[in-house]
Formats: sequence, structure tokens, C-alpha cells
Amino acid sequence: MTEKVDIHGVKINNVTMEEALDCALKMLESDKPGRIYTPNSEIIMQAYRDKTLMSILNDADLLIPDGAGVVLASRILNKNLKEKVSGIDLVKRIFENTKKRPASFFILGGKPGVAEKAAINIYSEYPKAKIVGYHHGYFKEVQIPEIIDQINKAKPEILLVGLGAPKQEKWIHNHYKQLSCKLIMGVGGTIDVFAGTATLAPEFMRKAGLEWLYRLIKQPSRYKRMLDLPRFMLLTLKTKLRSKPHQKS
Ligand code: UDP
Repeated sequence: MTEKVDIHGVKINNVTMEEALDCALKMLESDKPGRIYTPNSEIIMQAYRDKTLMSILNDADLLIPDGAGVVLASRILNKNLKEKVSGIDLVKRIFENTKKRPASFFILGGKPGVAEKAAINIYSEYPKAKIVGYHHGYFKEVQIPEIIDQINKAKPEILLVGLGAPKQEKWIHNHYKQLSCKLIMGVGGTIDVFAGTATLAPEFMRKAGLEWLYRLIKQPSRYKRMLDLPRFMLLTLKTKLRSKPHQKS
């Protein structure tokens, strides 16, 4: 097991991308479904307010540090996460790895038609990634047993769930025991990126940790939710100051 780093109650695995990939590949050789979530600063703030979400995250088999903000907070708190491991990059590495070890996937999430487009693009780039099924993410509660049945009949090794956070983490937590997959991962808007209906921030912005700015420019309606980013940094600074009482001169 890898070391865990506590960021405001969320216990993140201190892994590099290589270690995260290794952990994901080990799950493929196991019998029970491994759950991977990708907490960023926004999700950590949501979990800070929602204790159910906090315990759902902490019950995962792997929590990767998805975002420059999380890594920066770990440094401020002297807990030094090794590096940012973004969810989409890990998914790409898992697809890439199918060249060595073919694997089957089911894609759940996105607007109707999006998962299908993603499946076509993924298959054309990674022919050894077998997409055995897909379903959009706008379903009603009553449809869930039918969707679970569809997934189990398709027999994917890996289930990618992109319903947005925290919906996807809650959905996975509530249903993973009914799913006969080996790895289940919450992937947020990644399905849209593979489908070509959303784009990633340019490399220079990703390297500078400015994905949040790119998302704000592309989707200004997210601004309310993104107020959690400064809240996250403020909470980090407060925690730091509390842990180091001022000395009188
Ligand atoms: N989504 C979905 N079902 C829902 C709500 C959202 O499938 O009920 C999808 C949405 O179409 C998009 C993804 O979930 O593909 C959420 O994307 P977002 O960028 O908001 O994800 P996050 O920031 O949470 O990673």
C-alpha cells in the first residue's frame, strides 16, 4: 500500500503517475472491483462540507491527486505529494497500456450520443481497448437496475463513470458491489474530451496549473462552483497557521 496524505480530511495516495498506473493494472488481476477517484481542490472542498462524500472518498482503493492546487496545498502543509496525477492522463495511460495488455471497457456518462462518439475515437486510437458497451449519464433512478444488468452482461474489466462529481463517486459507492468489473473509475468530463465535445486546456496552461482558468473561460457558468478554489487555498493557509502558533518576539 502507498503512503496517504491527509488534505483537509481526504486521504490521498501519494503516488506518481507510474505508481498510479501500476496500482490500476494490479486491480485488473484482482477479483473484487477496485475503485479509483480523482479528487481535485473542488471535490475536497465538497467533501469538507459533506461528511458522507468524505467517507465515500476515503473508502476508495486509490485516490489520485488530480490538480496543481492539491499538490500545492500538500507542500504548504509540509506533506509533499510527489506529483499531480490527473484523471484524464491516468485514463490515457490505461488505454495506452492495452497495447501490452488488452482490456475491455464500458463507458457510462455524458449526454446521449457522447459515450458512443468517445467509444469510436478510443477504438480508433487504441484498437486493443475493447469498448464492450456504453450508456449516457442522464438516467432515472428506476433505470439503474437495467443499466447494471447491461454492464454485467457486457462483462467489461474496466468501467469508466463520468457523471460529474460528486454524483459519480456516490453512484459508484452505492453500486460497485453489484458490478462484476475489476476496476471502476470516476472520470468526470473525460468522456467529453475523448468524444471531442470538450477540449483540454493547452499544454502550457496545464503545466502552469491553470486548467481552472481555462475551464472558467470556456464555461463561465461554473464560476460559483469554482469559488471553492480560493476557499480551498484559504482553508489550507488557515490550517497551516493553526499548526504553527505565532511566537512572541
Ligand atoms: N453528466 C452526466 N449525468 C449527469 C450530470 C452530468 O452524465 O446527471 C456528465 C456531463 O454530461 C459531463 C460530466 O458528467 O460529461 C461532468 O462533467 P464536468 O466537467 O462537470 O465534470 P467534473 O468537473 O465533475 O469532473
